[in-house]
Amino acid sequence: MNLRKLVLVGNGMAGVRCIEEILKLAPNRFEIAIFGSEPHPNYNRILLSSVLAGDADIRDIVLNDWNWYEQNGIKLHTGQTVTKIDTEKHLVYTDGGIVESYDDLILATGSLPFMLSLPGADKEGVIAFRDIKDCETMIEASRKYKKAIVIGGGLLGLEAARGLLNLSMEVSVVHIFDNLMERQLDPVASKMLQRELEAQGMRFLMEKHSEEILGDRRVTGLRFKDGTVEEADLIIMAVGIKPNVALAKENGIEVNRGIVVNDFLETSVPNVYAVGECAEHRGMVYGLVAPLFEQGQVLAKRICKRETDPYEGSIVYTKLKVSGVDVFSAGEFMDSPDTRAIRVHDEFAGIYKKILVRDNKVVGAVLFGDTSDSTRILQMMKNETNVMEIKRVSVLENPDSAGVSGMAAVAAMSDEEIICGCNGVSKGTIVQAIQEKGLCSVEDIKGCTGASRSCGGCKQLVAQVLESVLGDKAQIAAQKEPICSCTSLSREEVLAEIKEKHLTTVKEVMYVLGWNQEEGCSKCRPALNYYLNMLWPEEHEDERASRFVNERLHANIQKDGTYSVVPRMYGGVTSPSELKRIAEVAEKYQVPMVKVTGGQRIDLLGVKKEDLPKIWAELDMPSGFAYGKALRTVKTCVGSDFCRFGTQNSIQMGIDIEKKFERINTPAKFKMAVSGCPRNCAESGIKDLGVVGIDGGWEIYVGGNGGVHLRAGDLLCKVKTEEEVMEWTGAFMQYYRENANYGERTSYWVERVGLANIQKVLEDPETRRQLNERIDVALSVLKDPWKEIVQNEEVRAVYEELPVLA
Ligand SMILES: Cc1cc2nc3c(=O)[nH]c(=O)nc-3n(C[C@H](O)[C@H](O)[C@H](O)COP(=O)(O)OP(=O)(O)OC[C@H]3O[C@@H](n4cnc5c(N)ncnc54)[C@H](O)[C@@H]3O)c2cc1C
Ligand code: SF4
Repeated sequence: MNLRKLVLVGNGMAGVRCIEEILKLAPNRFEIAIFGSEPHPNYNRILLSSVLAGDADIRDIVLNDWNWYEQNGIKLHTGQTVTKIDTEKHLVYTDGGIVESYDDLILATGSLPFMLSLPGADKEGVIAFRDIKDCETMIEASRKYKKAIVIGGGLLGLEAARGLLNLSMEVSVVHIFDNLMERQLDPVASKMLQRELEAQGMRFLMEKHSEEILGDRRVTGLRFKDGTVEEADLIIMAVGIKPNVALAKENGIEVNRGIVVNDFLETSVPNVYAVGECAEHRGMVYGLVAPLFEQGQVLAKRICKRETDPYEGSIVYTKLKVSGVDVFSAGEFMDSPDTRAIRVHDEFAGIYKKILVRDNKVVGAVLFGDTSDSTRILQMMKNETNVMEIKRVSVLENPDSAGVSGMAAVAAMSDEEIICGCNGVSKGTIVQAIQEKGLCSVEDIKGCTGASRSCGGCKQLVAQVLESVLGDKAQIAAQKEPICSCTSLSREEVLAEIKEKHLTTVKEVMYVLGWNQEEGCSKCRPALNYYLNMLWPEEHEDERASRFVNERLHANIQKDGTYSVVPRMYGGVTSPSELKRIAEVAEKYQVPMVKVTGGQRIDLLGVKKEDLPKIWAELDMPSGFAYGKALRTVKTCVGSDFCRFGTQNSIQMGIDIEKKFERINTPAKFKMAVSGCPRNCAESGIKDLGVVGIDGGWEIYVGGNGGVHLRAGDLLCKVKTEEEVMEWTGAFMQYYRENANYGERTSYWVERVGLANIQKVLEDPETRRQLNERIDVALSVLKDPWKEIVQNEEVRAVYEELPVLA
């Protein structure tokens, strides 16, 4: 069957969300290609504020990882900006020379930050707050510089300012008006907000008009129209956004403020649609995700030729994501002659709530200090509830203070009421998913329904719905952690079922154990693949599709889309001829950077994907598993052969260990080191397994980590001979392989399980023998993946495929 070709321009929140809806409605209707200017897979832009504030890591905010695109057969072109559309021939062109044809084209190019055209605005240190790159620039600047100015006292500016405070910068917020967030808050709430943020350490320069950015190459300060100057090493402009419409405009698609769309998100050109911040619908351009997701749902149905109601616009609402400050605003917020207000203002408790009513219906609300009513009020606005029929002030009564528990209030909510506003998930949908799919955690619900997946503001409410459905069982369920949101089974239960039912493929596990998502997700697929490989080393055929991109391609993908190659040098030892070969290959393929790694290996960075097989062939050295959840390197010191202090031959020990255990998969990456004496020059104390030479023997340390979670290793045992080092190493690795959760580093595992427990198991010689026997079987079936790729033309073709798609 010929599939229709669907192209999405813009790999952001609205566009990809629409693709998710399309995949749900018609998984086999389209061949999909996505273009994104940024080098990342789709991520949650909303949570950049949390990354900046240190509450999340960039990796935590990825919504759909590289695996997701591959699993759904989507061709993803990151780092590619679409520059031209031929609407007659149905082709799009990128700045990187890619040409793609389409039957249907969705434009979801988002917005561009509005930059004030002040003199000096092009200086180093003047940035916006829009994407991962901006976020990284701020984090980096905070390491070197002290003073930051945020221009703009709106939602984005305040979130940026809070993040910079967390990064220990001194932060001043410059605002042209007298009130912060003047587009969402009335003066009372605005002043309460300012006081709260001042208490947190933010400085405010209100009613200030910026005139010039000072400095030579880098910014040093900001001068205002009144002649005053404020020093700064970093300036964030957060003064607004403008729809990114250039691509549409230059290619004959009707544009006003945004790309003009009708109620079905169709543009002025047939088969070209627009969704998200770049689109203008009935004169409105939205800058928050909830409306964009609503648009995406309608567009998905339209494109899949399903019946759909038209999109008629959205009610917008805002929550500020600054810890310690609860602010909510929806619809109208300023009193006007034809509205009446219901207010609660408790200056002692710092609580202010106001709802505006016109014709007996709620038309807007501002909540400060307690936003627990927000979902309910929003629902009243959507349902156009008549407030004359209820005791009016009860609209603003906190259920807890009114003697009704939050739980009871949730239980009293109707099934239609929306719990997650960003994603439009109702209580009924969540309850149904809990009951029908056996969900037992907020994470499960997030994975299955999308609730709490965006701003996360509704997490508590989702937890209350869960509790209201499961009762006591929710507590028990909370203690049992499912391996991902596709199942309610824990790792132990899954492993027991695999063993008992002798399940041998990922698909089989999902089918037999009733996974709620047929294809699983990027969390469970690699985990199951690992468990199956570990349990049935001889039987289970490694499923490449269930591995993360680095492991699938056997090379480490870098942030610009190139790869790195790390030839294996056992124990960190190399030879002049190997070095010569590495240098020649690096020269021939113009490798932009050759670097020595922390693990004593040579890294060839910036390799093009299509060059990988040729490089591996010409190097003729096994490549190191520099990226995988496997044994990485065994770092060594010079040891007794050369060192004046060395008591043991650490180099040979390191080489022997690395040769024996190379390629073995482990639940997480596994690093080792061998030092020739307690001076520990190979840093054996911060490795997953570190060996230290002592007089007359060796010490073995485990659970060490030099990474984010810095941890000194624990002494597992002291042994006398090299054979015993090997025996204990094999036994420890296999015990970890069999018992840790997939993704769990030894530093966490040793702490979770307890060193004494591990020692107790491994002290028994018979157990050590059996563990070694099992790891030996696993090692005996491993092959050199690079050799396979070099020798097998079919596999090689995957790498050499040219990126031009006509
Ligand atoms: C720090 C921050 C905090 C926020 N907080 C909230 C919040 O709490 N609540 C809320 O509802 N909203 C929030 N937002 C707004 C929300 O993130 C946006 O409304 C949403 O991301 C818009 O989705 P989009 O797909 O239209 O655009 P985007 O997510 O911006 O995606 C557009 C993508 O298209 C790419 N692109 C553009 N042109 C091209 C081209 N020609 N070729 C290829 N790719 C192209 C861009 O690089 C970009 O990655 C926040 C935004 C930021 C920056
Ligand atoms: S650890 Fe001991 S043997 Fe190894 S290099 Fe350092 S001092 Fe020498």
